[in-house]
Amino acid sequence: MTKLKGKSVYQSIAVGPILRWNKQEIEITDEKITDAEAEIVRVKEAIEQAKAQLGKLYDKAVVEVGEESAAIFEVHQMMLEDDDYLDTIFNMIREECRNAVYAVEAAGNQFSAIFAAMDDDYMCARSADIKDISNRVVRILAGEEDVDLTNMAPSIIVADDLSPSETVQLDKSKILAFVTVHGSTNSHTAILARMMNIPALVNVPMDLNKLHTGMNAIVDGILGEVAFEPTEEEMNTAKSRVEEEKEKLRVLSCMKGQATVSKSGKRINLYANIGNVDDVSYVLENDAEGIGLFRSEFLYLGRDRLPSEEEQFEAYKKVVSAMNGKKVIIRTLDIGADKKADYLHLDKEENPALGYRAIRICLTQKDIFKTQLRALFRAATYGNLAVMYPMIISTEEVLEIKQFVTAVEAELKAEGTEYRIPEQGIMIETPAAVMMSNELAEMVDFFSIGTNDLTQYTLAIDRQNEKLDAFYDAHHPAVLRMIQMVIDSAHAHGIWAGICGELGADMELTERFLAMGIDELSVAPSAILKIRKRIREAE
Ligand code: PEP
Ligand code: MG
Repeated sequence: MTKLKGKSVYQSIAVGPILRWNKQEIEITDEKITDAEAEIVRVKEAIEQAKAQLGKLYDKAVVEVGEESAAIFEVHQMMLEDDDYLDTIFNMIREECRNAVYAVEAAGNQFSAIFAAMDDDYMCARSADIKDISNRVVRILAGEEDVDLTNMAPSIIVADDLSPSETVQLDKSKILAFVTVHGSTNSHTAILARMMNIPALVNVPMDLNKLHTGMNAIVDGILGEVAFEPTEEEMNTAKSRVEEEKEKLRVLSCMKGQATVSKSGKRINLYANIGNVDDVSYVLENDAEGIGLFRSEFLYLGRDRLPSEEEQFEAYKKVVSAMNGKKVIIRTLDIGADKKADYLHLDKEENPALGYRAIRICLTQKDIFKTQLRALFRAATYGNLAVMYPMIISTEEVLEIKQFVTAVEAELKAEGTEYRIPEQGIMIETPAAVMMSNELAEMVDFFSIGTNDLTQYTLAIDRQNEKLDAFYDAHHPAVLRMIQMVIDSAHAHGIWAGICGELGADMELTERFLAMGIDELSVAPSAILKIRKRIREAE
């Protein structure tokens, strides 16, 4: 058995087989080759293998999601037969002596750039498809096994790192734990693990080449370690600890249906954070009083084109209806930084966290923002929906948002479409917004403090950089003073203030937040009952 230490993101235990998620960067070298024909045979074989993989994906998708959605895999198969694409690859090998991996990657980039530059939206979206099929062939050429997620057994996901767009592809009901070589405790994978109530370890110094899918492991988020290939006795001990953890959760379930009110009578709205429609089941299961943060950008990830107004409307309507009158705060698109969608063709940036993201994209790519607002205002007629805007830094931005709201409202009215303008708030997650909170409070209905970004921008610490985890002091007095300032500004103008960043679930601070006058805490669904208990015991 091999035991390795890592940083624990969620304190729980899991036992089961691992699934090795192969997404390490493949090194593309420009090594020249001498036998061009042999290299071409390699490409042809890889393409056949890729087509076979796509065929299998198509067959499964037809059964699971229907013919229309499955058709994309057929399109990918056809693209792999395109003469222009194949000739470009073969010419690079024959005439420039390029190796197979280099030629496939270069041809993929070339064709995807051509499609990206096209005016037609549909053709433009095909750019991501070309990238996708080229990546598939490159991975086959590099000898990577294809991870089949469609029929995965309940597994511990073991990876180098996981991006938000990769996590959206995983079937959450089948994930027992996450273990990654990289990743910070503040990353979105960490947030996902907390939401799902499953152990996760990041920064584990494992050699992925020695691990293979199917191997057993024990992930102990309490001790912060993972054991690969444990003995049967160790497996049995771990399984009984899993049962003990489940028992603790059962005991906590007596908090369901109780009011979230302190001994001195201070009532808090205890809401949950979610990333997609299916997460509502965790919210209901844990008896949250509402949804304080629906990260709508996850609807935009792991796909090859923007979600249409209709798709978004259906998603928002579903969440709002399932919550049956309880508040659902949907945050508008917060894409950029670590959350990437190829089809948006965002430039690579030196400082993505300080870059073109969130409201900055919405205020400049007007159609994207308008489509989302239309879907939100239409869905608002189905329940208690509220909207909030991320990454705000100024009153001018709020004024500009209001102009969008007015324009969208006029459009919906003129068409005779049913809509409702919901309550609207902003996220306070930049030091600028904190310093302007007095003015901003006059313009909006509520504040929700995003402590993940607020801490990153206040302490000048990249939340994605694992090397800085030790410096990322979430209890830094500067951050706590800012929270107090925001609450005071909100109350001075008669609006409420909550916290939807991870700090809201930090139980060492629960009483302090109550003393500060916080009105709402929005946390991972798995933290709801524990925090309710803590608040009910607080003076
Ligand atoms: C935050 O920044 O605290 C927040 C809730 O938003 P996200 O983690 O999605 O950036
Ligand atoms: Mg944020």
